Amino acid sequence: MAAHGRPGPYDALVTDDCLFCRIVAGEIPSTIVRETESTVAFRDINPQAPTHVVVVPREHYPNAYELAKADPGLAGALLAAAGAVAEQEGVTDGYRIVFNTGAKAGQSVFHVHCHVLGGRPLTWPPG
Ligand code: AMP
Ligand code: ZN
Repeated sequence: MAAHGRPGPYDALVTDDCLFCRIVAGEIPSTIVRETESTVAFRDINPQAPTHVVVVPREHYPNAYELAKADPGLAGALLAAAGAVAEQEGVTDGYRIVFNTGAKAGQSVFHVHCHVLGGRPLTWPPG
């Protein structure tokens, strides 16, 4: 049985080794800025902008593609949570929601998350 409490296709990946599962479980400390029934938002430990918050579903999926395919409702809740974080942080005049998907795109933690970045001008294209 997975940490999220019901069997799923990614049970093999829901282990104590998943950093964000452990943050969601409170086993690893983080600065949580917002929580909902299905999501948790916490400050990135290596911030790339004045506002840099990581938003995750409590349930483990490895990336945005797998989350959206398996549970579009939860994907929507994650996006709504990201917007609420931007409001809370006062960056709605210009911010970015980033889902790095795959190691080649810079994903380093394979528990789906989006970055909410704001508080400074953001250039395009991203690196
Ligand atoms: P990504 O590279 O898109 O997978 O994003 C992973 C993010 O998690 C990076 O921006 C890291 O700085 C961040 N991170 C890693 N460990 C922690 C931690 N313990 N608490 C908060 N953020 C973390
Ligand atoms: Zn996880």
